[in-house]
Amino acid sequence: HRWKFGLAGELRQAAARSPSRVAVIDESGPTTYGELLDRSSRLAAALPVKPGDRVGILGRNSTAMVTAMIGVATLGADPVLMNTGLSAAQLDAVTQAQDLRLLLHDSSFSPPTGVLFDEIPLGAPLTTPPARPGRTIILTSGTTGVPKGARRPTPGGFSPLCSIIDRIPLTAGVRMMIAAPLFHAWGFGGLQIGLALRATIVLRSRFEPSAVLSVLEEENCPALIAVPVMLQRILEAPYRPVPLRIAAVSGSALPGGLATRFMDRYGDVIYNLYGSTEASWASIATPADLRAAPNTAGRPPHGTVVAVLDPSGQPVPAGTPGSLHVGNEMLFEGYTNGTSRSLQDGLLATGDVGHVDTDGRIFVDGRDDDMIVSGGENVFPSSVENLLADHPAIRECAVVGVPDAAYGQRLAAYVVLHDGAVLEPSAVRDHVRDHLARFSIPRDVIFLDELPRNATGKILKRDLPPITDPD
Ligand code: ATP
Repeated sequence: HRWKFGLAGELRQAAARSPSRVAVIDESGPTTYGELLDRSSRLAAALPVKPGDRVGILGRNSTAMVTAMIGVATLGADPVLMNTGLSAAQLDAVTQAQDLRLLLHDSSFSPPTGVLFDEIPLGAPLTTPPARPGRTIILTSGTTGVPKGARRPTPGGFSPLCSIIDRIPLTAGVRMMIAAPLFHAWGFGGLQIGLALRATIVLRSRFEPSAVLSVLEEENCPALIAVPVMLQRILEAPYRPVPLRIAAVSGSALPGGLATRFMDRYGDVIYNLYGSTEASWASIATPADLRAAPNTAGRPPHGTVVAVLDPSGQPVPAGTPGSLHVGNEMLFEGYTNGTSRSLQDGLLATGDVGHVDTDGRIFVDGRDDDMIVSGGENVFPSSVENLLADHPAIRECAVVGVPDAAYGQRLAAYVVLHDGAVLEPSAVRDHVRDHLARFSIPRDVIFLDELPRNATGKILKRDLPPITDPD
């Protein structure tokens, strides 16, 4: 039964049942479940590490990366998924902080002490189950210092899969493209789900919107696992008829206007998952939810509780913002630096503020530290961002608070226009004035060619250019 757990257990079960089904397709071609099991077991036998050691995995999405992740877990060692956006200094700091025994990588990276995925000579397949299941460690983004490692639980597959198929009609053997990076909680979640469903997983090393559309068409893929900005890029690419039925996105807020525009073009296919590295997915919006309330993050799936609590820990009524707490069997187990998770009544504080509408739909207003207090009024950037994103001339935007002598803070909007569009700052302000309260109007409007984003497409507000002309 020790083969039951985690990535290695999922692969072994899938390979036993469907050995000749294609497990992964990347630029190098297809690999069956039987071949993936054989290769990852041979890699496990040859790795110069022991159960319990940590092994960094640094790569772009590929079959070799999946093989390395599973190989490490097969041995009972812990794969540490390295964010491909880390600087050399951060990579070094993470290697130290995570006490990595080995760093495996692909040829797009050249860390000074790493070993290439295919440079490990394969041994005879390891057939004995590990003394302990390998536990995947995912890094937080490290906005305030060295990224922390969050230990993901190693469920037997039941819990994540049940919660997904409760809201998303993914079925056994589905062909799914994972465009979200595998090192990120949602890309990794896609891999877990894919193995549990004995799916055929399609990977490409780089995200290129037109290429994604042709791959979906050529590989006849009805399902796509992505991050929200990928939908925006796909929408900007020339239309192509694709057999897409499910586009499941997570990792950052999905602007409601984007959800609507995408579904108008490609059909009612979007599933928006709200989650985090620590909480996995906590709620899922179906296309019907998004048609009824485009900015919603949906409802908690089977086995998950989401509570909206006031500062004293009491539930707040519908419509009232409070801090979002999540309880499920997929919460992280703690950080590798020894910091344990802190639960209240089994619930994890996400650090996000949100509310629930009278129909039970969840809305994420934003990180609690993102809230702007202007002249004593609380404004969440998301309320203004969602509105601006609906403007026909605006491609994307970010709203932040800047210090203001009179109001404490005032709002600044960074706006990227569609190609060829023209908009005056006053028109941006007028658009907000027409729909929201006065204190939500951005005083500063800065036009940019693009917004700074991290490797998973999340907007890096700290990297926006400073406001040069205060007041
Ligand atoms: P951190 O900045 O804490 O390190 P991170 O960038 O490492 O976070 P995640 O853990 O994936 O990456 O980010 C989770 C956060 O992203 C959530 O707490 C929430 O604020 C935001 N988020 C994720 N999915 C959604 C969604 N569907 N709708 C709105 N917000 C979302």
